[in-house]
Formats: sequence, C-alpha cells, structure tokens
Amino acid sequence: MKSFTELPLIEPIQKALKEKGYTSPTPIQAQSIPALLEGRDLLGCAQTGTGKTAAFTLPILQKLWLTRKPVPSRDPRVLILAPTRELAAQIGDSIRVYGAHIHVTSTVIFGGVGQMPQVSALRRGADIVVATPGRLLDLMNQGHLKLSGVEVFVLDEADRMLDMGFINDIRKIISKLPSKRQSLFFSATLEPKVVELAKTLVRDPVHVTINPETPTVDKIEQHAYFVDRERKDQLLVELLGNPLMKRVIIFTQMKHVANKVCMGLNHAGIRSEAIHGNKSQQARVAALEMFKRGKVRVLVATDIAARGIDVEGITHVINYELPLDPETYVHRIGRTARAGTEGHAISFCSASERTYLSSIERLIRKDIPVITDHAHHSEHAMKARGADARPLPRGGAGRGGSRGGSRGGSRGGSSRGGSSGGFGGGASRGGPRRPRTSSGGFGGRGPGADSSRGERSEGGARGGFQRDGPSSGSRPAGSGSRPSGPSRGPRPGGFKPARR
Ligand code: AMP
Repeated sequence: MKSFTELPLIEPIQKALKEKGYTSPTPIQAQSIPALLEGRDLLGCAQTGTGKTAAFTLPILQKLWLTRKPVPSRDPRVLILAPTRELAAQIGDSIRVYGAHIHVTSTVIFGGVGQMPQVSALRRGADIVVATPGRLLDLMNQGHLKLSGVEVFVLDEADRMLDMGFINDIRKIISKLPSKRQSLFFSATLEPKVVELAKTLVRDPVHVTINPETPTVDKIEQHAYFVDRERKDQLLVELLGNPLMKRVIIFTQMKHVANKVCMGLNHAGIRSEAIHGNKSQQARVAALEMFKRGKVRVLVATDIAARGIDVEGITHVINYELPLDPETYVHRIGRTARAGTEGHAISFCSASERTYLSSIERLIRKDIPVITDHAHHSEHAMKARGADARPLPRGGAGRGGSRGGSRGGSRGGSSRGGSSGGFGGGASRGGPRRPRTSSGGFGGRGPGADSSRGERSEGGARGGFQRDGPSSGSRPAGSGSRPSGPSRGPRPGGFKPARR
C-alpha cells in the first residue's frame, strides 16, 4: 500500500499523519487498520519499530471520534496496557500526536510517581487510559477506576509483560473487563506461554505477523569487537571519539554497570546520562529529555528502562554487555534505524559473552562482521570456547574479575592501562568474582520501580543469572571458520572488519 489515503481513515487523522510526515503505512498498519476499523480482534506478532503503536492507535481514535459521547468519570472507553512507564508515556504521546485534530481525552498511569494527578485525571474522565499493570490495579483497588465501560482493550508487548512477571496482574485486569469488547494483543514473539494468554483474550482474531523469522535488523550495520572486559571502557572512549556517533545509546545488562559506564564517560569528558530502574521517574524523564534534545550525546541504559524508547536520530547502539537473550539484542539495536533511516550497532564481546554472540547470530541468521584492527582486540575472547566461553555469574559481570582476561593474545595486553580500563580509577575494581546467590542483589526494587516484578527481572529476564548461556548451537563458539561479512559505509573509529 502506497499511501495512507488508501485507508479508510477520517480526515482529521489523515491531517495529523501528514503533519507528522508519514506518507505510507508500514506493513503492520496496512494489514491491521482495516480489520480494526471493522471491529475485529487482533493478534499481532511484531517488534517495536514496526509502527505498531499507530497501527492500533489510529483505529481507536477513529472509533472514539465517530461514536463520541460524554467522557465518563473513572470509566474509560479504551484501556491500553504497556509493560513499562517509558512505553506507556510514549503511547500517550502518540495518542496526542495522532489525535491532534479530534477531541479525545487520554491519560497515562504508571507507578514511581505520586498518584494524585492521575487520580484527578481519572475523576475528570478520560476516553483512553494507557497504564502499566501495577499502578492500574492499585488505583482500581482504591476505587479510582473501573473497567466496566471498556470497549477496546490493548495488551502491548505481551511477551515482555510475561517476562516481567505481570501474568497475575494481567489476569486480574482481564477479569474486570466487560465480555463485549474489542481486544488487541501484541507481542514480539508467539512462544507457547504468550499464545496461551492470547487465547484467553482475543476472539476470532485477525492474525498479523511481521517478519517473525527474520527480525527487522537488515537496515542496521552491525559489527562486533572482541575485547576483554577490563578494556571495554578504553575501547568505548576511543569509539566515541568518532564524530559520526552523533546520538548513541549504550546498553548494559545491569544497573550498576550502567552507572559505572556513565560516570566513566563523564569523567572522560563525554557527557552522558544513565537510565535504569533505580533512578527516580523524574530522573529518567529528565535524562531522556536531555538525550532527545541533544543536550547529551550518550544515553546509558538497561534493557527494561530502555524498552520502547523511541528517540529519533539514534545513530549508534553500543552493546557494552551482550544480552542473555538474543531477542533482546534485536530490541536493543532496533533503537537505531527507526522509520527507514540507517543505523549502526556495535557489540563488545568478551570471552564470557562468546556464546551470547553465537546465539544472536543464529537468531538473526547472519554472521556479524568483526572489527579486529584496533588496539583492544582480544584474540582470547575471539577464540574462547568451552570453559573460557562460559558466561560469568551475574555478580561477577562488570565488577572487574575477568576470567582469563589477561590470557590469550590480546593485542597490547590486558595489563596496559592498569586494571581499571580507560576511564581511570574507579571504572573496574578488579575484585574477585562474586557468585550470585539469589535473584535479589543488583536487581532489587528501586525507588523508581513501577513494580518490583518488573525491576527484579531487569537484565536477567528469561535466563536466570547462572545460566550457561545458549551454547548448544550447531556452530561451536569461537569457530574460526567463518569469514566476516561485508561492511558498508563508514565504520566507527575507521576500523576494518576482519576474519575470525
Ligand atoms: P513503533 O513500532 O510504534 O514504536 O514505531 C516505530 C517508529 O516508526 C516511531 O518512531 C514512529 O513514529 C514511526 N512510524 C510509525 N508509523 C510510521 C509511518 N507510517 N511512516 C513513518 N514512520 C512511522
């Protein structure tokens, strides 16, 4: 479909789309919007970055507008559930943009902030409530909100909700919905537990699947750097010296590593902000705003905090630590190359992350070209296999202990620059690895958490901390048999991809 005008969307919505600069619908929009306008339920399998927010928001706005009635107090007509505050806020923003020319009221509800303004907004009445599950249930239990008037229910990022332990909350919320309703269910994956939940929600749905087999990462130029953990900081600072890195998001698995990286960068004169579950909501919003407005070039984030972040013009995603789940890699790098632009993704891979890289390559069905001609290249990490490639216990990651980091043929030797890497002093303390004993510790509920469940799973969502990693693939980790892939365009730091 070439143009939005081919869709039966009303003029005020077409006008808002035009103002936003959208001309053609994305595949999920082209496939979903007609069915949703007819009132069908929908089961959508699509990642963030495909345009799914508009796919469900546009028909909802149209329906509300064409059947407008006085806004009921505490009884919305539409409920949209999202796993994180950031995603909920972003959906709220989209509603305002797409609904700029129609009078539909909406409000966003999430935890980690005072509830009074949210209670007042509900009392005044909102056609659409966008909410995270924990705060929604709190407000329902206090009598500030009922769901008896809900005509359309959207469950967004259902897979992530389940990973974050929201299943009981979701079941409670669904049980309060009227049985006559339109239900929309979106998930990046359709694994059995997700399908099981979907079955309880949607009736005779239209199925829309956007590239489940080959994740939408083709437009992104991806590279891997094999580097020992204690030298990641130095490599990072050097890469960020490249002026082509205009807006960069750096991912870490854990909150304390995000803090450490952020502090180190600021110390090295590179302005950065960190967002993660231990930051207050205000601090997270302020950091995102500075990043969006270009006041800081670098945002350091954990996966849950960054979920659904949609900042235009991110030129580079850097995986300072590789994620345990390969799907998370796809979510991360999807922050760049938004809406048709090009983007770059750089992954640092130490020996203990070798198996993660292999499983990412299996998922995306291609080998990520490796850059070796840089001062921090580690042959040891590149060739790691067996015990050397085993993932570290989570307590050890980022805290300085590097299994075998000083062995192998790391060019330049890992002792160069002392034990603390490129940021100087406090970047890496070189202490002994601390075995993880429970799911508490680093992932504990922070002051900004919407739900303890959500933040507890941060960075360790599916795998558990002691997991050996997805090493059972057909190709051995560290296999030297694969050539690096071709590389297009300018490379960060001017390094060339090489063979491994
Ligand atoms: P989403 O998957 O909903 O997070 O959307 C991903 C990005 O694509 C957002 O930045 C949207 O603003 C943008 N987008 C959504 N629909 C379109 C469209 N039809 N044309 C261009 N950009 C779009």
